[in-house]
Amino acid sequence: MTDCLFCKIVSGDVPAEIVRESERAVAFRDINPQAPTHVLVIPREHHPNAAALAAADPASLAAVVNLAQEVAVDEDVAGKGYRIVFNTGPEAGQTVFHVHAHVLGGRGLNWPPG
Ligand code: 5GP
Repeated sequence: MTDCLFCKIVSGDVPAEIVRESERAVAFRDINPQAPTHVLVIPREHHPNAAALAAADPASLAAVVNLAQEVAVDEDVAGKGYRIVFNTGPEAGQTVFHVHAHVLGGRGLNWPPG
C-alpha cells in the first residue's frame, strides 16, 4: 500500500532501525519505546491486523511470531519473559493499520495492561 508507513519501512523509503529480517518479516525498534526492549515485527506484505493476516497468509503470521522470538533471544529477554502484543482496532490503541507485533521486555510488565 503506497500510503502505509510500515510498507514504506519495508521498502526502505522510511528509515528505521532494523534489528532482524526474514523472508517474510521485518523487525525494527519502536520510535517511542515503552520498555528497554520494544521492537515491532511486521510481515513484508500489507495486512491490516493479526486476524486478517491469519486468514490470508498463516505462514506469515507464524513468521512474525518466530522473528519475535529470535529478537527476544538477541535482546536477552527470552529467558526472563517478554510480551507479544497485537493491538487490534482503535479502542485497543492500534494507530498503524499494517499488522505489527509489539515485542516488549527488559522490565516487569503489569497485568492487565492499561
Ligand atoms: P500501535 O499503536 O498501532 O499498536 O503501534 C504503532 C507503533 O508504531 C507505536 O508504538 C509507535 O511508537 C510506532 N511508530 C509510529 N511511527 C513510527 C515510525 O515512523 N517509526 C518507528 N520505528 N515506529 C513508529
